[in-house]
Amino acid sequence: MLKYLKDLPPQLLKVIESAKLVSSQLRCRSYLVGGFVRDLILGRKNFDLDITVEADGMDFANLLALYLKAKVIHYHRFSTATVVTPEGFKIDIATTRKESYPQPALLPYVEKGDIKDDLARRDFTINALAIGIYPEREERIIDFFGGYNDILRKKIRILHDKSFIDDPTRILRAIRFEQRFNFRIERHTLRLIKEAVSLKMFEKLSIPRLKDEFILLLKEDNIIKIIKRVEELIKWDNLIPLVILTKRKIKFLNSIKRTIGWYKREFPHKRHLDEWLMYLIGLLDGLDKIHIDYFLNKFSLRKGETKRIMSYITRGKELIDKLKKKIKPSIIYRYLEPLSYEVILLLKAKSKEKNLNKNIDKFFKVYNNVRLNISGRDLKKLGITEGPCYQVILNKLLYAKLDRGLNTKEEEMRFIKNIIGR
Ligand code: ATP
Repeated sequence: MLKYLKDLPPQLLKVIESAKLVSSQLRCRSYLVGGFVRDLILGRKNFDLDITVEADGMDFANLLALYLKAKVIHYHRFSTATVVTPEGFKIDIATTRKESYPQPALLPYVEKGDIKDDLARRDFTINALAIGIYPEREERIIDFFGGYNDILRKKIRILHDKSFIDDPTRILRAIRFEQRFNFRIERHTLRLIKEAVSLKMFEKLSIPRLKDEFILLLKEDNIIKIIKRVEELIKWDNLIPLVILTKRKIKFLNSIKRTIGWYKREFPHKRHLDEWLMYLIGLLDGLDKIHIDYFLNKFSLRKGETKRIMSYITRGKELIDKLKKKIKPSIIYRYLEPLSYEVILLLKAKSKEKNLNKNIDKFFKVYNNVRLNISGRDLKKLGITEGPCYQVILNKLLYAKLDRGLNTKEEEMRFIKNIIGR
């Protein structure tokens, strides 16, 4: 067995064995390709298989799903399919294809091709390796472009000189892989990146394509190094007009990273954060609202994402001013409760004020967990007519509980009776 396959979980090896059977039965050549092969050689955990077939990928997917008792999802528009096994492994299956770019930065023409064509259309040599999973080339590494050596030498290298002109998103991908694996972009590739940047290639890209890669970039672990490398190779204002990576901005981004770390350590079970959005806000921080509106219009992020960005940009300063004072718990609660966790943590990351930090810590640790012992049903029992006043009364009770520490249900009832009486 190929040495790299040995350490895979047995269920995944079973998937690969089944794919070999399908290849034999359909008498077609099929290959493991892409990031899976790269990560396998690198010894990095990656259980998302990518299979490409020199035949109809859909037929291959249907039969493989049958063997594995798995679900299959077809993407007819792209002639690809995803098989999801009962254990949760995901296998993307496509037909080998050849691509050519009619114009720079536009989507490519796609036609049928063989494995060499399919690997030649890829971004970097390290992603252009395949492993045969059909009888004649079973478990043989197929390497037309020197990707194996580039992995050993830790190099990011494009496959041809027009690569970044054809698809400038590859520049972001180069930075992403370089920083993720601690590789270096090879010298000629670096020169071609600079050339493509000077030709303003990013302006020619359609926004959805740029956006997807842009978000993937911000989702990487090594985010601060990535952000600095973008400045070095591309300059941020080629991606977001007017964003300049000043020392102050780097300080804020570092503080965001530390604050996210604090949140995850202190509250491992609390809500998941959209960390990439926090870094994006960190980059946008300080721009005029007009320029942020322009960026948001162009990028058309999701509604919830736009809302969080605008909430920080329009109210951040005012909230920091309010929260740096010594204020009652109920006031802290009223300021923070309507905000998303991302925005609250950005306030904490932005300000060094002791009171603000204390207030936000208390909000997460105490105030936001306070629950009332009584509910609308108890109000009904007291003879209060149902309506919007319920919310008003319950809010009043919650604020009193936060400020005065009403502990028991009896204390809460007494408080309610008191305010009704009044
Ligand atoms: P990740 O580990 O981040 O998921 P990946 O290598 O699996 O990285 P995907 O974006 O899932 O990357 O793409 C799968 C494969 O498709 C890549 O390995 C690469 O060969 C190819 N690919 C993806 N995007 C491009 C692109 N813009 N240009 C050329 N090839 C690409």
